[in-house]
Amino acid sequence: MSQPIKIGVVGVGKIVRDQHLPALAKDQNYRLIAAASRHGKVDSIPNFPDIESMLDAVPELEAVSLCMPPQFRYDAARTALEAKKHVFLEKPPGATVSEVEDLKALAVKNGVSLFASWHSRYAPAVEAARAFLSSARISSAAINWKEDVRRWHPNQEWIWAPGGFGVFDPGINALSIVTHILPALFITSAVLDFPANRDAPVAAHVAFRTSNGLPVTMELDWLQTGPQSWDILADTDKGAMVLSGGGSKLAIDGRVVHDEPEAEYPMLYKRFAEIVRAGASDVDLAPLQHVADAFMLGKRNVVAAFFD
Ligand code: NAP
Repeated sequence: MSQPIKIGVVGVGKIVRDQHLPALAKDQNYRLIAAASRHGKVDSIPNFPDIESMLDAVPELEAVSLCMPPQFRYDAARTALEAKKHVFLEKPPGATVSEVEDLKALAVKNGVSLFASWHSRYAPAVEAARAFLSSARISSAAINWKEDVRRWHPNQEWIWAPGGFGVFDPGINALSIVTHILPALFITSAVLDFPANRDAPVAAHVAFRTSNGLPVTMELDWLQTGPQSWDILADTDKGAMVLSGGGSKLAIDGRVVHDEPEAEYPMLYKRFAEIVRAGASDVDLAPLQHVADAFMLGKRNVVAAFFD
């Protein structure tokens, strides 16, 4: 096997601790050799307050994973690409479509790889759903992504700020799946519910149509208590498909046909190693483009103030 890729993580918070560190620890394609974060620390490796000081002090770094909130990712990505490091972007890859386009060009110019990671695309039943749908005639589809923001995002102020996407932070995970398993689609109308005291939506009601005219609806809700739902449904000539659990379980006409434990982050790091070694990039902006379109076309509806 080739030498491990020397990697650093930047923005040490919830997702780094929950997923990146365990995935990197088990993957022989990598050696984690540094971290940069204003407050967060990773045990047993050198830690730095920001990416600039990490790159200065550890020039042997070959790649970085940028895991800070999206509003603060572009400058760090630019710094890393200009230093000729391969870059793994957490989802969403940026706060705007055009800044990620700029990063794509910068990666090409510097001869390094850029990876816009979409973890939900690597959920275990997504490929099976894609294969099923590609063999069936679809008549309609629906996305229901309903979770409790107080449970999953406590004290995350960035998520309610402009560029934090509000309920589209989880919603973009659904979009990363549907843009992989359904025909090309675009938004025809949207209503975004903004709490009176917040700058990002707490719910969204979105209608799409596919290029061949099929209706697709998306309901996003961040105030769902009790059972949480991360489901994509499709009516087809081969039965009713339900892809549930955020892409982990597939059922056709009520019969479970695919159900495996999830391994999204190990798969993401496997893919990143592949593109680094192939000298390629993998940057699909379709999910981010749909969020931008929802904000562009969506009617703004002011709802009750939200308090943690
Ligand atoms: P988080 O814990 O709130 O943020 C990650 C870290 O980024 C923070 O701990 C903070 O570390 C750093 N940070 C915060 N504000 C910053 C700023 N203004 N400038 C520079 N760094 C800043 O959030 P998270 O849940 O890990 O999410 C981070 C990203 O991962 C988001 O894009 C999110 O959508 C994605 N993600 C999250 C989850 C999840 O379950 N939470 C799942 C998948 C993907 P320091 O204070 O030490 O700098």
